[in-house]
Amino acid sequence: MTFLPFTRPSIDEATIASVAAVLRSGWITSGPKVKEFEAALSSYCGGRPVRAFNSGTATLQVALTLAGVAPGDEVITTPLTWVASANVILAAQARPVLVDIDPATRNIDLDAVEAAVSAKTRALLPVDLAGLPVDRDQLYQIAARHKLRVIEDAAQSLGACWNGKRIGESGDFVSFSFHANKNVTTGEGGALVLPQDIDPALCERLRLQGVSRRADGEMDVDVLGGKFNLTDIAASIGLGQLPRLAEFGERRRSLARRYFAAFDAQPIAGLELPSRDFENSNWHMFQPLLPPGTDRGSFIAAMAERQIGVGVHYPALHLFSLYRRLGFALGDYPQAERVGARTITLPLFPAMADADVDRVCEAVAQSLC
Ligand SMILES: *Cc1c(COP(=O)(O)O)cnc(C)c1O
Repeated sequence: MTFLPFTRPSIDEATIASVAAVLRSGWITSGPKVKEFEAALSSYCGGRPVRAFNSGTATLQVALTLAGVAPGDEVITTPLTWVASANVILAAQARPVLVDIDPATRNIDLDAVEAAVSAKTRALLPVDLAGLPVDRDQLYQIAARHKLRVIEDAAQSLGACWNGKRIGESGDFVSFSFHANKNVTTGEGGALVLPQDIDPALCERLRLQGVSRRADGEMDVDVLGGKFNLTDIAASIGLGQLPRLAEFGERRRSLARRYFAAFDAQPIAGLELPSRDFENSNWHMFQPLLPPGTDRGSFIAAMAERQIGVGVHYPALHLFSLYRRLGFALGDYPQAERVGARTITLPLFPAMADADVDRVCEAVAQSLC
């Protein structure tokens, strides 16, 4: 039996050939392919300005700078996310203020956000966990009421929608990641959708050492920028991926439906299935919660014995030692802790066969008894 990983990118031969062409072209770092990729992303986002980055983390970091987040400011986010979402707030010397999740969506509980807003709050940084979008209507109502910037961490939600509108098509800052595990990949990479009031040229300077070049060959540096530019090698992978986004999404939805059908047909006591959203989610991940009391390590080992890879996305981040040192403690966010302790990511990727889903469900049942 072949090993089934929890995810695997689908890179076609045409994309591989396009990478080879870039390598032969003599121009392998940021160049025409990055511009082409940005244009394709912009077109997907309804014509909004988009700039490409070498990671979704760099993208968030620059977004925080552009949003005016300064040392001592507070940024509100969720404890149940990839730690990058909170790390970038620390890197900006700001304070991450965490708000517990809504157990139904496992995203930040918007009803609890306003109680966390203080005079120091500068921005909201919501995360669309597993590709299930945070309620954009309520989110932007809160932001408007308190005059807060929003940085949508949409690393996992490219291809998802809110009320028929694509994520990225509207809103304030929208940050995507193209890490290998995301629904569309460039190996490593990211993209930032910019709001109207932000100068794309400033975003470009923050991306690359703050440098602006003049036509006569002279240059200036007026802000402290980083080293965050995407390569043409990576951009050409993205250009091969983006046209397949809808196809990937269809396949993911269909596999997710099969998971629900299989677990509904043979329910496992205590196994908690994710929210059944077939309107908005891009099904970036399929994550049941293990029955209470299950030893997750033993479960992972039992699945591996059956040649199935599973993931953990994610333990509640406030329990990591760096965050405990900042004063966070067990019990602070009970819903995120409960989900973070029991979550398991089952295999879900476009190249998976229907029969793989059945095999996974059988293995889950066997591994839990
Ligand atoms: C992947 C991810 C990031 C970071 O993206 P990288 O490209 O890995 O830097 C940030 N936030 C969330 C929620 C992610 O899933």
